[in-house]
Order: sequence, then structure tokens, then C-alpha cells
Amino acid sequence: MRFDIITIFPDFFTGIFGYGVVKRAITNGLVEVGLHDLRNFTHDKHRTVDDRPFGGGEGMVLKPEPLTEAVESLNIAPKADRNPAKETVILLSAQGARFTQATARELTQIERVVLICGRYEGVDERVNELLCDRELSIGDYVLSGGELGAAVIIDATMRLLPGVLGNEASSAYESFGHADSAFVDDPEGPPRSSHGSGGLLDYPHYTRPPEFRGLAVPEVLSGGNHDQIRRWRRERALEKTLRNRPDLLEEAELTREDRAFLARIALQKS
Ligand code: SAH
Repeated sequence: MRFDIITIFPDFFTGIFGYGVVKRAITNGLVEVGLHDLRNFTHDKHRTVDDRPFGGGEGMVLKPEPLTEAVESLNIAPKADRNPAKETVILLSAQGARFTQATARELTQIERVVLICGRYEGVDERVNELLCDRELSIGDYVLSGGELGAAVIIDATMRLLPGVLGNEASSAYESFGHADSAFVDDPEGPPRSSHGSGGLLDYPHYTRPPEFRGLAVPEVLSGGNHDQIRRWRRERALEKTLRNRPDLLEEAELTREDRAFLARIALQKS
């Protein structure tokens, strides 16, 4: 998979992609990231990328010409002829559709993803119309540029690619994992949860020491009963999702046992 980032701050990314799983994926050639300095696509002495907004108002707007030239330099098909399984052009924007784990999974199916980073007040809207297949936002807040958004999208997407995480199955057990009833935990593997996270938040994790500042690790986890551990983890995931992100329960894959458990804790609360 290849990502191309168009930005006025290409150096922004040198640190960000230099660590951990992301660094390893790039070094091992599983993922390529191309950085493209928007200013290389200007033709004036001052390498101007922005201009004042039509209609007045604060700030500056990224001009359409350098961005268009930058995208065209990447040999991407024109928008109308693009094969969505092969390539896509994304505009980072606070006005975009929200980027989620499901979007990350969707992007793993595409060979080449171009990310356009806005700055200032944003990007001339014609860039969006003429070049971009979608606008994505990484959350309901306004950032000063699209670079952090591009880094978030690349990080979340690339760790789902086959071979990037040590263990293929791990991403199914994480927060927002598979909402897939066909997904069954490997009975030979460690007792993770009663099945894949099914769209719930992850269950809590513990490591040594067994007791820390008066708090003991829950006994069930060292008891060795895999069925009990699975059930305990499932219930903690349900509890935490109900407490922190009740909206996720609407879409989650729940068993009858899960629903009974949720009803029980809802009763205890009231
Ligand atoms: N005037 C815009 C904000 C511009 S912020 C508005 O009110 O919607 C400058 C740039 O930062 C944007 O062009 C975009 O590329 C990036 N950006 C800001 N917030 C973002 C978010 N939540 N997700 C992704 N990109 C964002």
C-alpha cells in the first residue's frame, strides 16, 4: 500500500513515522509513504501557496493551482476515471465525514491513498470538487493543519494491513474491532474475550506486579479457567462501553448473554 501526502510541511512527518510499528512497516517495505512539498508546485519567486478569501473574512486560503499540479504529478487517474479500489484522493477537513476504524479498514483495500493537508482557513473548494474523492475529519475539533490528520489516518490504516502487527488476529480483539458474528475466537489461543470485540471497547489489561499500591489484579485472570476469563473480559468490555461510549452499543454485535448482562447492570444502576 502506498500513501502520498501533499503538505507545506513535509518535515513534520520525519519524527512521526520514525517509531514502532509504523517505522517497521515502512522499513520492511509493507507500506510506502511519499512526501510532497506543495511549494515545489508554485511558479513565483515567493513560492506562494495561499491567497485572500473571496467574499472577505479572516485568514488565507490554499490556492487551487499548486494543489492541482501536485496531485497531477502523482500519476493518479482524473477523478471521473478513478478506480476506487486502486486509488483515492482524500482532503483532510474539519468539515469531512468522521474517520473511524471502519474507514481505516476500508482504506486497507485501496492500493494508493493521496492525502491533501489543508492549512490556514482551509483549501479552495474547487480542489475538493475537482480532485478529491472524499473529505475526512479525524474528530470534532479544529486543528491548525491536516498533517496530524494524515498521520492519524496512515497510522490507524497501516496497522491493519496483513503482516504489520506481529499477530494477525490482534486487531479483531481491540476496541472497535470486527462487528462480525462469523468471527470466532481460536479455542487454542489465549482466552481473549468471549469473541472478537464486535465493535465494543477493549477489555482492561493487567501485567505484573500482582498487587500495586493496594490494588490487586482481578483473581479470575490468574485462575487459569479460560471460559471464565473470556466471560470476565467480555463483561468488562460491555461495562466500559456502556459507561464511556453507550453509542457504540447500538451497532455492536451482542449475544443474548451480553444483552442479559447489560440489562442486569442497568438495573443495578437504577
Ligand atoms: N476553517 C476551517 C478550519 C481550517 S483548519 C473550518 O472551520 O472547518 C486548517 C486545516 O486543518 C484544514 O484545511 C484541514 O486540512 C485541517 N483540519 C482542521 N481540523 C481538522 C480535523 N478535525 N480533521 C482533519 N483535518 C483537519
